[in-house]
Amino acid sequence: MNETSEETCPLCRGFGRLERPDGSTVPCECRSEEMVRSRRAAARIPERYRNCRLQNFNPLNDSLKKAKAVGKRFVEHWPAVDAGLLISGPVGVGKTHLAVAILNELVDTKGTPVLFCDFSDLLDRIQASFGKGSDESQDDIVAPYRDAELLVLDELGARRPSDWVREVLYGLLNTRYNRGRLTILTTNFADEPDTRGGETLEARVGAPVRSRLYEMCQLVTIDAEDFRKKHRAKAFG
Ligand SMILES: [Zn+2]
Repeated sequence: MNETSEETCPLCRGFGRLERPDGSTVPCECRSEEMVRSRRAAARIPERYRNCRLQNFNPLNDSLKKAKAVGKRFVEHWPAVDAGLLISGPVGVGKTHLAVAILNELVDTKGTPVLFCDFSDLLDRIQASFGKGSDESQDDIVAPYRDAELLVLDELGARRPSDWVREVLYGLLNTRYNRGRLTILTTNFADEPDTRGGETLEARVGAPVRSRLYEMCQLVTIDAEDFRKKHRAKAFG
């Protein structure tokens, strides 16, 4: 893999500068502030996560340190990365922060077109489209998420599962898988039932989705050990 192929701009192929006929170079438009701004806007990252970076992701325990290292590698190697990430852990440990940090770093340093999706919001929008007078179809709504070069699907399993929810999810993931698109997912549900007898991820999303995720993603497990004690009062996404 040569240096330039790790970048995504088709004009400069990641070099960041373009050569003029006289041999001098000018900055490529992919590095202009305007381009970075428009790519950021197109990413649809919610305001509260705009400043999430790897640098301000605070690894307070070993699992967070490992997770941060995985995120860093992902950004460094992009687009020579062959699996997405399934970031699993309890509420409030920084799963969304890590996922969004990867998007922000890739937008700013590699010009990657990325997209953020809150899974519950997506379902709400699809459901709203079933009403009379809606000019959007389910297909119109889901299309950008099928095509995005890199997608963060946040809060997988947050919604009460139904056959319909599982179908939407499987359809989206399966299409992305077949198109070779990578996906980063976050979820509060784990493969093992928790000590309070909570549901497993598989029970939540269904076996077909769970098995598709195994093929698409590297599992990144974050545990809350030490975290709550130190940061009880601090809100993390
Ligand atoms: Zn460029």
